[in-house]
Amino acid sequence: MNVCVLASGSKGNCIYIEGSTGALLVDAGLSGREILRRLEAAGGSADRIEAILVTHEHTDHIRGVDVLARRLGLPVVATRGTLAEYLDHRRGSRKPLQTTACRCGESLSLGDFFIEPFATSHDAIEPCGFCIREHDLEVGCCTDTGEVSPVMLERLRRCDALVIESNHCPEMLKNGPYPAFLKKRIRDVKRGHLSNSACAACLKSLADDLHAVTLAHLSEVNNRPEIALAAAASAGGLGLFAGSIPLRVARQHEITETMQV
Ligand SMILES: [Zn+2]
Ligand SMILES: [Zn+2]
Repeated sequence: MNVCVLASGSKGNCIYIEGSTGALLVDAGLSGREILRRLEAAGGSADRIEAILVTHEHTDHIRGVDVLARRLGLPVVATRGTLAEYLDHRRGSRKPLQTTACRCGESLSLGDFFIEPFATSHDAIEPCGFCIREHDLEVGCCTDTGEVSPVMLERLRRCDALVIESNHCPEMLKNGPYPAFLKKRIRDVKRGHLSNSACAACLKSLADDLHAVTLAHLSEVNNRPEIALAAAASAGGLGLFAGSIPLRVARQHEITETMQV
């Protein structure tokens, strides 16, 4: 599988996952036009996309969903809670949208892909991450979560590669410009975003099983790519340290080098 993060961060998220016969998008949080532009730049193919998987209803994950789903004739796959909230948002639109509800912990098949959503901890109605398997290879997408719970960790252990949130440096958040209520929300393990140190702890536990890692959803205010990378590397996973596991940082304004799984 080829995994290319087309955008990552609070201004928009989109991951393109290409398998041997088809492809998927995880979130579509830029405009439809910009996603198609970045997809082409990444060497991807819109014609191969079989569905848009949506993690939760925040704007930075859904901005382009409607346009792309209708233009490319794709189903939108999300949990019942996310779909209900999303459909409520677009209730002014009469344009038909094809949707498929999924359930955390239950796998669904789409073309050659098996997709298993898992619950995340975030201030949305029913947020989830996705484990995506094709044949014997599996990629985990885990962003917008205040914590990686033991249940999530065990699910991610089966993955060969991960796109995982490394949102903020706790020190930068503490000393940064955000108002207190927002700092508290971001730090909240049940409703917030994953810190560099929480991400590193997760990677440390999974290091033996992973072949590639992309750090995602970095805050542009409370983090720096080099700080997130250093935290992940210091997790002590031998491969991460030695550079034998490719470790990348996904960007907001440009596509990230493709992660081959
Ligand atoms: Zn987000
Ligand atoms: Zn969110």
